[in-house]
Amino acid sequence: MKKILFSVVAVALVLGALAYVFRRPLTRVVVSRVVAGNMASTFLEDLPDGLHVGLCGAGSPLPDPQRSGPCVAVVAGENLFVVDSGSGSSRNLGQMGLSQGKIDAILLTHFHSDHIDGLGEMLMQRWVNGTHTLPTPLYGPDGVERVVAGFNQAYAQDAVYRTAHHGEETAPSSGAGARAQPFGLPGPGEGVKVVEDGDLTITAFAVDHEPIRPAVGYRFDYKGRSVLVSGDTSKSANLAQFAQGVDLLVHEALSPELVGLLTQGAENAQRPNLVKITNDILDYHTSPVEVAEVAREAGAQELLFYHVVPPLILPTMEEMFMEGVTQTYAGPVTIGRDGTFFSLPARSSEITHRELL
Ligand SMILES: [Zn+2]
Ligand SMILES: [Zn+2]
Repeated sequence: MKKILFSVVAVALVLGALAYVFRRPLTRVVVSRVVAGNMASTFLEDLPDGLHVGLCGAGSPLPDPQRSGPCVAVVAGENLFVVDSGSGSSRNLGQMGLSQGKIDAILLTHFHSDHIDGLGEMLMQRWVNGTHTLPTPLYGPDGVERVVAGFNQAYAQDAVYRTAHHGEETAPSSGAGARAQPFGLPGPGEGVKVVEDGDLTITAFAVDHEPIRPAVGYRFDYKGRSVLVSGDTSKSANLAQFAQGVDLLVHEALSPELVGLLTQGAENAQRPNLVKITNDILDYHTSPVEVAEVAREAGAQELLFYHVVPPLILPTMEEMFMEGVTQTYAGPVTIGRDGTFFSLPARSSEITHRELL
């Protein structure tokens, strides 16, 4: 028995020593295989026909290790759309296997900095990863053209460098940046069909993020399946109307109780500007229970929270965030984080959920 044990330990030591001696060649093999695997990924192409929703950013301007700036990827059939592009969202999208080069269009809900501060990176990655010859279509309510002009100007020199360095065939100069696709802010009960393409309709509708105007949400309808992305809003009857019968409601939420703790902390730290800000943000977002009311009123099949405020850094904070939600809305509820991914296969009532990051 002792002999066998001795032999096993000896073999393990020899293998360990060999692995240490050859650690660099081994690392080369592993890295090149992982890189090749990632680059050859056909995750997007392999998805079943239907609607798919991925959170490329589940958070807000407040730093949360699990939640980057707001970003919702929606795959409809073979098309990839991105709603908003907060900080960190472009990197998340790539890591989720949704190559930025495959983006068909980006849609903005409003022009608050946390919804556009990842946009420059997203546009550049989409251009060079996809060898695009036309700029990214960027939909948004009137005013989106100013955002586009600003980003295009800020990245104009970068675009020149990249074409000069990689050549027209790899980074065609005509494909850099974005082109604005503005639409007028719809009135209550009115929807603007921003995309109508075969089986897919994307409808923009007004939400209530006063004093921020314009602000919209988007509803995606594809082959009998539907998803609604709220953007930033306080509890909105107009949104509830557009969410009628939706399969998956993707809604922002702010917990007044937890934000109250931030205010208290700011008071204790004698930071009056932070006290003012944490008080101000209460009036233009929706509490988790109010979101649950909207989901119930709309008859939504399932609810996904994103733009989660404040950061939920302790498991018990998730419990506090959810207080009263399941008593209000009977369907399944998920608190989103970066990489949360839902699939809604075409012409079915199935909804599946997994985490990609
Ligand atoms: Zn926001
Ligand atoms: Zn906002």
